Amino acid sequence: MSPTPPRSKFPLPLDAVVQRKPEPARTAGMPAVGAPRPARVPAKVRDKQPSAPTPAASAVEARASAATAGGGGMASDRARGALAARLRAAGIRDERVLAAIGTVPRHLFVEPGLASQAYEDAALPIGHQQTISKPSVVARMIELLREGLPAATPLERVLEIGTGCGYQAAVLSLVARDVFSIERIRPLHEQAKANLRPLRVPNLRLHYGDGMLGLPQAAPFSAIILAAAGMDVPQALLEQLAIGGRLIAPVALMPPPGAPGQTVTQQLLLIERLNRHRFHRTALEAVFFVPLKSGTI
Ligand code: SAH
Repeated sequence: MSPTPPRSKFPLPLDAVVQRKPEPARTAGMPAVGAPRPARVPAKVRDKQPSAPTPAASAVEARASAATAGGGGMASDRARGALAARLRAAGIRDERVLAAIGTVPRHLFVEPGLASQAYEDAALPIGHQQTISKPSVVARMIELLREGLPAATPLERVLEIGTGCGYQAAVLSLVARDVFSIERIRPLHEQAKANLRPLRVPNLRLHYGDGMLGLPQAAPFSAIILAAAGMDVPQALLEQLAIGGRLIAPVALMPPPGAPGQTVTQQLLLIERLNRHRFHRTALEAVFFVPLKSGTI
């Protein structure tokens, strides 16, 4: 995979790619808001793997280009490249993450009426009171998972909680060898499947279920990423993190007792598993995510 976003031909007429069902009423969800970037945290333990390409990288790239050939979409191609350039200017350093953001056709993951905003660095509604995450937050979280890995080296086995429309899962598929993603809202799980089908991502598996329970049958994971904020990180996910693995999650911070008028805020939490019993936690910047909820609907 090249370190710079490849030039391909976007946009593809959306209906040519995904036969969409009538859209449910959309509800604006909560946008993710990135705060100032703190200094990088040195990796304590990493699962260093020999460099190897990710099979899906070429598959997604090839499919994205093929799917858009004839679409004459230089504008969208440029918009994606510009988005990656903006994220680089904003401090994202991992070239593999930037290349993935520059490759995944985000306009295919939002409803057609919002496609013109797809390459802005903004969260957008995807229905069911949920949002597609802000690209800068997607990039930042994945960069934190990959910290210390050279561009040529993929993450190994990644679990995502909160597939939503599938955008971040597609980005992850370009920076990891195997990706598993869980969604608790069935229509969103189905929508993600439909969105991802034309991209034919061989190293991504979508599951419908409660991500708070993780995916024990596929554990341990070298990285876990939560796209929704809980009061803390579910114990099952910590247990399913490989030793040396990293987990990144937005978590709610309760206001201090006796501080009336304060609202609950959230911050990113990076957890590194040092050994069987020890986890190292680093609190990072303030963020704003939709809530992590238990059960399925
Ligand atoms: N990854 C998405 C973000 C989707 S928003 C993207 O690419 O932009 C977060 C998602 O987390 C929502 O779809 C919500 O339904 C889901 N979610 C919340 N709690 C969950 C849980 N316990 N298990 C699985 N998904 C959950």
